[in-house]
Formats: sequence, C-alpha cells, structure tokens
Amino acid sequence: MGDQYKYLLEESKLSKTWYNINADLPVPPQPVLHPGTKEPVTPDFLSVLFPMEIIMQEISTERWIDIPEPVREIYKLWRPTPLIRAIRLEKALDTPAHIYYKYEGASPVGSHKANTAVPQAFYNMNSGVKALTTETGAGQWGSALAMACNFFNLDLEIYMVKVSYQQKPYRRIIMQNYGADIYASPSDRTQFGRSVLEKDPENNGSLGIAISEAVEVAATSEGKKKYSLGSVLNHVLMHQSIIGLEALEQMEMAGEYPDVVIACVGGGSNFGGFAFPFLHQNFTNGKKTKIVAMEPASCPTLTRGEYTFDFGDTAAMAPIVKMHTLGHTFVPPGIHAGGLRYHGMSPQISALVHNGDIEARAVHQLATFEAAVQFSKTEGIIPAPESSHAIRGAIDEALQCKETGEKKVIAFNLSGHGHFDMSAYDAYHQGNLHDYEYPQEAVADAMKGLPEVAL
Ligand SMILES: *Cc1c(COP(=O)(O)O)cnc(C)c1O
Repeated sequence: MGDQYKYLLEESKLSKTWYNINADLPVPPQPVLHPGTKEPVTPDFLSVLFPMEIIMQEISTERWIDIPEPVREIYKLWRPTPLIRAIRLEKALDTPAHIYYKYEGASPVGSHKANTAVPQAFYNMNSGVKALTTETGAGQWGSALAMACNFFNLDLEIYMVKVSYQQKPYRRIIMQNYGADIYASPSDRTQFGRSVLEKDPENNGSLGIAISEAVEVAATSEGKKKYSLGSVLNHVLMHQSIIGLEALEQMEMAGEYPDVVIACVGGGSNFGGFAFPFLHQNFTNGKKTKIVAMEPASCPTLTRGEYTFDFGDTAAMAPIVKMHTLGHTFVPPGIHAGGLRYHGMSPQISALVHNGDIEARAVHQLATFEAAVQFSKTEGIIPAPESSHAIRGAIDEALQCKETGEKKVIAFNLSGHGHFDMSAYDAYHQGNLHDYEYPQEAVADAMKGLPEVAL
C-alpha cells in the first residue's frame, strides 16, 4: 500500500464558524485612527465605507464567529478544498520531510480571495446596500468580488491598477463576465485619480492609488455605494480562517501535525487564514509549530519595513493603522507577483511578527519561479507567482531537512493557480525576469511621509 495523496473533507464537515485571532492576541490590538484628526475612529466614520456587521467583526474579540447559512451554501461550490501531500516533490527533493499543501486554487476564480468576497457581498446585501466599489491589482480580488456581487445582485465598480489592466486583459474579461464595471487606475473618474494624472499622465498606477480612488467613490456617494477591501483588515483574515480550520482537520486525517506552517504575504489574508488556526493551537494547546511568512525581496514589508502607524492608501484618505509599512507613498517595482505589492500589512500579522510569534522571510523573484517550475513538474499544478513564495519557503525547509536528516512535517498554503500569469512564466523561460533589491534610500525616503501620531 502506498502513501495517501489527497485528504478530502465531506461537504457536511464545512465549518460553521470562522476563527478570530483578536481573541488570542498576546498583545492588545492597537486603535485604528482617523486619517484627518489622527484620533481613534468611531464606528460612524467606518460606516461610510462598511456595513455595520463588518465593522462589528472588525473590532470583535469573540473567538468564534458564525458563518451565515447563505455564505456556507456558496462556499459549498468549492469548499472544503483538498489538502494534498506533495509526495512527488518530496521524492524529487530527496528529503525525509513530509510536505503538505492546501489548494485554494480550487475556487471558481482560482484563489482564496473568494472566501472573503462572498461574506462581504452577503453582509452588504443584507444591510440594504446596492453597489460596491473596490480596487484590484492583478485582478484576483476583482474577479472574486465580481463573482460574489453577482451572486447577491450587487453592482460593482472596480479600479484596476493600470499596468495590470493593460497587461492582463483576461482577468478584466472575467470580471466583465460576472457583470462588473472596470476602470484603469489612475482614472479621470475621481478627484485623486485626476490629480495623479495631472502630475504624471503616464502613471502606471499602484494598489495604494487604486484604493484611494475606490474609497473616494464610496465616501462621496452619499451612502449609495460601500467599499470592499480584499486583504489587510481583521474581518478579511477572519473569513479566510476557513482555510486553516479545514487544514487542521485534514492534518488529523493524515495522522500528522505540522512542525512548520508557511504562506505568502501581500496584505496577509491567505497567510492569516491558513496560519492563525495553527497559531491558536500554539497559544492554547501547547503546540510549537514554526509559523513562517514569505514575502518578495522587492516589497519587503515585514523584513525591512517599520512597525509604526501609517495610512492604508496613497492619498492618505484611508484609516491609519499600526503595521509594518514601507511608507504609504512607496511604489513597488513591477515584479510579477502583483498580489504581494502592497506597502502595508495586516495589523494582526505585524503585531505577531513584532512579538516573535511569526517569522518573516524575504525571497527573490527568480528563486520563486524556480520553485514554481519544480512544483509544476512534480505536482502538476501551475502556481500563482504569489503562491510560489510559499513554495520556495517549503522547498527550502525540506532541503534543510535533507541536510540534517530531520523528518519535519511542512504544511503550506497554495493560495491560487497561475493560469492567468503565463506571460510571467514566459518571461522567466526567456530569461527576461530579474531580481530587484529594494534600495535602502528608497525605504528611508518613503518613511519621511509617515503621519505624526500622538500615541
Ligand atoms: C491576492 C493574492 C495573494 C496576496 O494577498 P494576501 O492578502 O496576502 O493573501 C496571494 N496569493 C494569491 C493567489 C492572491 O490572489
């Protein structure tokens, strides 16, 4: 009898609750500040952007939050997702380690982002909202929210970073298929977009600029439109916890428990979703799993950013939170892992890294593509360039086990497939991809724009 490859949970085992890390944070959560007054925000301020149920989840300290039945019904289209043991990769690496991965590319839009898009659309619909605005980088978040808004009959207006809008037409068409309206950002539809274009008509856009545009449209809509964010915030990471909760049960089916848990970090949602339920076991159940966050060396938020208060967006209109940041004016180099190019980080992940509960590592682009191609050749799946950062981390751990002879159990999150990133793979195969080290002067420069906060 050979080893088992796939660990599949029955649909009936789909979790009825999400896990909220706020209940177990070893350090108290820091206040969210108003971008103008720099005083702690009131739910009133947030309610311009979000429906009340989402605001309550954002600040909740309850450990378990019920998943509404209409959300569970839609989750069943692709959840529970498989946990797969990468036996062929283990053999190729000649490692004594066991490697498991949770496959979030199984969602209809090909990534974990659907896990929060569906509840966010549901809570907005439930509170009487008719339309949402959002931003998207490479288009994964936009396509997830477009699918979810369509399910709940909400209109959706998407600001897509211009360089991706031009280079990734297929994602845009997916969003249009679900009925969303998409605009290249910076656009001439907002005051902020126009101000950026006036200074620099050729501006390629950034996630921070697109967030500013989407926030401005919602904030000036007189209550007609709300805003939705695909990462960073606590309610987003909480919705994603379904990934790790399933993985815990599936590891139990496999009869093993991970020594190391790894995921990539952009704003932190797939990492938080996968790793926090394991961290909960560290905090409350005596487990000692090493928890590793993988980020790009070209956007090294956790490894080279400062842990301080900063704006969530470029225009300084979004709330100020305490997080690891490269400065809200930071413009990342054009690496292909578009989803990892954000100046900030989830405040929860930042606090846990600061406190030593999570380890952060930065990796270069070429090394991640090398890992991705090795993974494709052994396991078949073509990973998203973002997810390839986690694969690099897992392979490095497994190679270390080969050196030491340790039989570690390594589990990582494969946040999405890379079927719409083939031009990036093409560039890699043609030898046209390069590593970018983010220059220290640029780090220091962007830090000069940090807000002065009296805390
Ligand atoms: C968006 C995205 C990421 C990065 O976002 P997080 O919020 O950090 O998870 C990672 N992987 C994939 C496939 C994505 O689409």
